[in-house]
Amino acid sequence: MTEFRYLKDVVTLTCDQDKCIGCGMCAVVCPHAVFTIAGKKAQMVRRNLCMECGACMKNCPAGAITVEAGEGCVRGIINELLGIEGPCC
Ligand code: SF4
Ligand code: SF4
Repeated sequence: MTEFRYLKDVVTLTCDQDKCIGCGMCAVVCPHAVFTIAGKKAQMVRRNLCMECGACMKNCPAGAITVEAGEGCVRGIINELLGIEGPCC
């Protein structure tokens, strides 16, 4: 079984609490349950688990979320399939 390791404080994910309208979309679409809604605002409760897929940013109607979404996850999966060491989401 593959072991996943996460690095602390290297994630580019940010959430602007002033812009957030508490709709909950980020919590719905995030595959790693990074967000929860508390006090009608999104809270990043598992920020270090973010894989920078960009789904939350694309689905946030308020433009409150920013993340440098790239191909890192896809590249990691391909590397793993090919047996090449490298980053994996
Ligand atoms: S999707 Fe955007 S507006 Fe909606 S709860 Fe998340 S951060 Fe707030
Ligand atoms: S970028 Fe992807 S993994 Fe990171 S918080 Fe947003 S939806 Fe979740």
